[in-house]
Amino acid sequence: MLAVENIDVYYGKVQALHGVSMKMEGNDIISVIGANGAGKTTLMKTVMGINKPKNGTISFNGKVISGMPAHRIVRESIVYVPEGREIFPEMSVYENLLMGAYSKKYTNAQLSEKVNQMYDMFPRLRERTKQSAGSLSGGEQQMLAVARGLMSSPKLIMFDEPSLGLAPVIVDDLFDIIVRINQELHIPIVLVEQNAFMAMSISKKTYVLEQGRIVAEGASQELMNSPEIKSAYLGG
Ligand code: ATP
Repeated sequence: MLAVENIDVYYGKVQALHGVSMKMEGNDIISVIGANGAGKTTLMKTVMGINKPKNGTISFNGKVISGMPAHRIVRESIVYVPEGREIFPEMSVYENLLMGAYSKKYTNAQLSEKVNQMYDMFPRLRERTKQSAGSLSGGEQQMLAVARGLMSSPKLIMFDEPSLGLAPVIVDDLFDIIVRINQELHIPIVLVEQNAFMAMSISKKTYVLEQGRIVAEGASQELMNSPEIKSAYLGG
């Protein structure tokens, strides 16, 4: 499905990723955990074509996508929901959802079906359809960012720190939604999180990034029992 092979990524002369490899198969949720500045966002942006790897390759469903411009990678139906949501605050909830479908040539009927599907999954957004996105609570804005990402019917969705800045009870709802997206819509998910416990709890496999290198990987359940991972990422 998605295969990242041995990529090196630089910002100018500074190397941000060192020989990073990551593989996902089938309809899995995988998580990428690591501290601030470990390179998680860089990895996502490299998959999306925003950063170019100096060495290594990235392929998606057997096709090499590294080297493609970002707009071509979007056409491969990979969606990235960035850290900090980046919704359009002046636009209504409904208009934000439409923006998520801009790369698709939906008919009007398909578009309204898609919007309705989102409103069924996120009833709060239906209630707030005409409200400006900037007036929503943090949790609602994150739900909107997720729903907007789903509007294009992605084949892979990558969430960058979706829990950032949200109250724990909202984080629980958000992670329930992420599991539903995976199970009900059958969309594979890459989940980048500093909230290692939550991310590992819902993912099949976890990669641990430290200073631009993968330092551990494996079944999430097993990694959660590893003493090193426990002390470094799970608070003991
Ligand atoms: P965070 O949780 O803070 O987003 P992260 O794990 O996503 O952290 P990255 O944002 O990928 O980490 O950053 C990895 C490294 O690359 C850091 O040392 C960071 O300072 C550096 N970096 C990130 N973006 C740039 C940039 N545009 N120019 C130069 N250096 C950058």
